[in-house]
Amino acid sequence: MSVYTEIGLPRVINASGRMTKLGVSTISDRVAAAAVAGGQSYVVIDDLMKRAGELIAQHTGAEDACPTSCASAAIALSVAALVTHGRWSDVVRLPDAHGLPNEIIIQKGHSVEYGAPMPTMIRLGGGVPVEVGCANEVVPADIEEAITDKTVALFYVKSHHCVQKGMVDIETMRDIAHRHGLPFMMDCAAEEDFRKYIALGADLVCYSGAKALEATTSGFVCGRADIIDAVRKQYHGIGRAMKVGKEQIMGLLAALDQYDERDHEAQARHNLECATWLAEHVGAIDGLNAEVIQDEAGRAIWRCRVTLDASAHAAQGKTMTAVNDALLDGDPTVWARTEFLNLGKIDFDPRPLVEGDKELIVEKLKKIMEA
Ligand SMILES: *Cc1c(COP(=O)(O)O)cnc(C)c1O
Repeated sequence: MSVYTEIGLPRVINASGRMTKLGVSTISDRVAAAAVAGGQSYVVIDDLMKRAGELIAQHTGAEDACPTSCASAAIALSVAALVTHGRWSDVVRLPDAHGLPNEIIIQKGHSVEYGAPMPTMIRLGGGVPVEVGCANEVVPADIEEAITDKTVALFYVKSHHCVQKGMVDIETMRDIAHRHGLPFMMDCAAEEDFRKYIALGADLVCYSGAKALEATTSGFVCGRADIIDAVRKQYHGIGRAMKVGKEQIMGLLAALDQYDERDHEAQARHNLECATWLAEHVGAIDGLNAEVIQDEAGRAIWRCRVTLDASAHAAQGKTMTAVNDALLDGDPTVWARTEFLNLGKIDFDPRPLVEGDKELIVEKLKKIMEA
């Protein structure tokens, strides 16, 4: 039983990863306690914002940071900071950015949908996305020649959602930005390294709190002190509609401490063991093939990929789409990753599974294949 089944909703087996549509991640007792304690006292929010920013900065190696309600808000508020430079009359005028330089250059293969379209977050902050190159190939000249006196930043999205081949790499895009005196901004929402991109010279890096960190619903942007100062000012303008509460912020800070103390190698090993177990047991079901694959973006995440074994009698007349529909049907409902369903593949991400889930997945798949 969970609070969700108690109000009449089906039990969810999340084998798809840190997905917003399933509630992203679960919080530990430590993070929950910090959030509860944070919610039970008053604080001067401007002071909390500044102090939390200093503490986040210590975890990232950045000059400063600012808590946000999620990574999407971090992107929108960063764009707003770059468009307004924190000038008060412009801050309170947004989202009307008429007459202000506001172009954000992004590689076409990075202009992705992650649950919402990336260009929407740029526009939300008063920016105009300028997509350069083609979906499967961008060259440095595509970026360089798109820079005008209206450009306010170059934006790189580090994500498995992006086209991985044919894009301009981080260092090259950073160098182009800096050669033109422009800030280099990154979206690293689901990344697991909170220092790497600041160390690489990014001026602003946006993260999600609930993904790798397993924090309360939250996010943050870290980077150059002058830009972060302009980000904070947005809370008196468009940021009000993206308010981040004191309890969310305290949960985020606890999650950062927890993350630094965790044994990530042991977790990755456990994750690989679980993916291997699933591949063995799912692969043994008549009509299915299964193998262990690594995350497309190269993170230390292993998943179990499942396809139909076309030669098997049990697979006749079945499609992977029908198998996936049957997994979603009923109670518990099983959610796989379906990014490659169009190619006849589904993936199980073992990270969000709780005790007993993987056995239930195999059981349900067996029944589906026998039907
Ligand atoms: C999840 C994600 C986001 C949004 O993160 P939220 O915290 O849910 O707003 C942005 N960009 C990428 C690449 C993501 O994967």
